[in-house]
Amino acid sequence: MATATTSAPVKAVTGGSFLIEERQPSDIFTPEDFSDEQRQIAETAAQFAANEVLPAADEIEAKHFDVTRGLLKKAGDLGLMAVDVPEAYGGLEMDKVTSAIIADRMSVLASFSVAFSAHVGIGTLPLVWYGTDAQKEKYLPKLATGEWIAAYALSEASSGSDAMNVRTRAVLSGDGQHYILNGEKMWITNAGFADLYTVFAKITDPADPESKNAKMSAFLIERDTPGFTVGAEEHKLGIRGSSTCPLILSDCKVPVENLLGEAGKGHHIAFNILNIGRFKLGAACLGGARISLANGVKYAKERKAFGKSISDFGLIQQKLADSTARIFVGEAMTYRTVGMIDAALATIPEDQAHNSREIQKRIEEYAVECSILKVWGSEMLDAVVDHVVQIYAGYGYVEEYPAERAYRDSRINRIFEGTNEINRLIITGFLMKRAMTGQLALLPAIKQLMDEVMSPPAPGFDDAPDELAREAGILANAKKLALLAAGTASQKYMSNLADQQEIMADLADMLIEIYAVESALLRARKMTKGTNRVPQVYEGDLGVLATQYYAAHAMTIIEPAARRVLAAVAEGDMLRTQLAILRRLVKHEPADTIQMGRELARQAIDAGRYPL
Ligand SMILES: Cc1cc2nc3c(=O)[nH]c(=O)nc-3n(C[C@H](O)[C@H](O)[C@H](O)COP(=O)(O)OP(=O)(O)OC[C@H]3O[C@@H](n4cnc5c(N)ncnc54)[C@H](O)[C@@H]3O)c2cc1C
Repeated sequence: MATATTSAPVKAVTGGSFLIEERQPSDIFTPEDFSDEQRQIAETAAQFAANEVLPAADEIEAKHFDVTRGLLKKAGDLGLMAVDVPEAYGGLEMDKVTSAIIADRMSVLASFSVAFSAHVGIGTLPLVWYGTDAQKEKYLPKLATGEWIAAYALSEASSGSDAMNVRTRAVLSGDGQHYILNGEKMWITNAGFADLYTVFAKITDPADPESKNAKMSAFLIERDTPGFTVGAEEHKLGIRGSSTCPLILSDCKVPVENLLGEAGKGHHIAFNILNIGRFKLGAACLGGARISLANGVKYAKERKAFGKSISDFGLIQQKLADSTARIFVGEAMTYRTVGMIDAALATIPEDQAHNSREIQKRIEEYAVECSILKVWGSEMLDAVVDHVVQIYAGYGYVEEYPAERAYRDSRINRIFEGTNEINRLIITGFLMKRAMTGQLALLPAIKQLMDEVMSPPAPGFDDAPDELAREAGILANAKKLALLAAGTASQKYMSNLADQQEIMADLADMLIEIYAVESALLRARKMTKGTNRVPQVYEGDLGVLATQYYAAHAMTIIEPAARRVLAAVAEGDMLRTQLAILRRLVKHEPADTIQMGRELARQAIDAGRYPL
């Protein structure tokens, strides 16, 4: 189990409760709370990425997989692959914050970080959580050191998002010694050079292969297993240096002892692993955004136009400011979430410390937040790399400069680990399900809000008289707006709301932005008032500015989303009343985001990178 080494333990809270409960700055974990050990690991990962991975970028991109494997082994030697592996099997068994820090700091070259993440995440974790002692003993020590590399094979040509619809079949051999697998997997990361594959297939009766009773299951398959072949590399838009191939299983003979977990319970493995994958993807997007911003700042300072550095132009500064603010917000959301996961894991009783069911239950609690990190992180990175291409302009469009590769590489993040469409549906769907089953007191909160907003006076603003009081007010009212929209939509569609995907996605966007603004606000307040202040020139200012700047942007998403939902679910007098409430809830004095943007950009330009 993860040992909690976080220096500032936070309370374990109910997943999704951010919408209805108020939080204090001290309730959340932030990067300022990293322990000395976590800072050291961050430094080790960052040095490795800068000194070993980046210099090998051309070879990695050219698919010299011997180079990639060599670097993966080096990362293993440094302990960077062992964080989630139990000590008993050669691992370091550390907390999830450390695991996120590594994903974050390793991400300077997406092709490499995708290979790394697939190995330590979806490649290794199924075994950590579901493996028998014998399976763990056999494989985990090799995976923890990078001697062996792992892959995870769920997707098929005809089933990606619809993952439970896999066509690959497994049949028990007559002598009961093997499962015989037939089928094809597609898009498998690390496939070209992996040694061990977690492959999903349905166990079925050979007389009735399409039976509804076929049991979704997972199997550990070694590369040299008879009947197992790796197909040709795909030619991709981005992450070209990562390996992505199909797998062909043709009467592939897998020993029965390589069934992973219980027959028929493969879907638990598939889904539970994804929550971890999603928060790590969010963390990895931060690393990618920081290096892109650093490249953008450097170029903007060097490039001259009209007799000036282009970094002197407001419209260039706006892009640097937007990137800086988003990274600050992303750090706040990511480490808040992972801190909550660690806090929940720390509640597992000592004698259950290695009980994978208990571990997954704690992680699944934050499925909404993990999906939020995935969606928000991938779209944040897309925004940053787009800004940076525009700063490089013509030079951003050609291969010799790093902006072009980052732009191509970013795009995959919206597609894998569950597409952003699927994750948006999960965010709203999961919260609504929790509301309906009473796990989350959403329905009473909606009722209370309806009573409150139907009667004047105007909604109250945060009374803490600091520089973020306006943003706290915006946030409080945005939560009310989300409750209003969710309440009205669920009243109209009841349990059929899931069929109204556009409404589900608009609600998800509201939730995502609320979580983003709240995380930034709490972090900024903690930085300016907290006891953990690290004396850095820009620290306090940057948090406040980034929060103010981002909150203004978030409202440009939240307000139209709420309008669309209300217009779709209400009409006539009811709609007019609700729009009047909406207008009251979105009313606030606008921040001077132009001036704030200039200041944020100045800090990035002075620092030559993301300033924190
Ligand atoms: C580079 C790369 C690496 C990958 N690595 C792996 C790996 O290591 N292991 C692995 O198992 N898989 C991997 N994948 C597969 C990846 O997870 C899938 O591509 C992804 O899940 C989407 O599936 P799909 O491509 O079949 O799209 P589809 O599921 O066909 O989706 C097509 C479009 O329809 C939308 N859509 C689908 N269903 C719904 C719905 N219910 N409601 C609304 N919209 C919907 C999707 O969001 C998408 O926009 C990888 C893919 C790539 C490209």
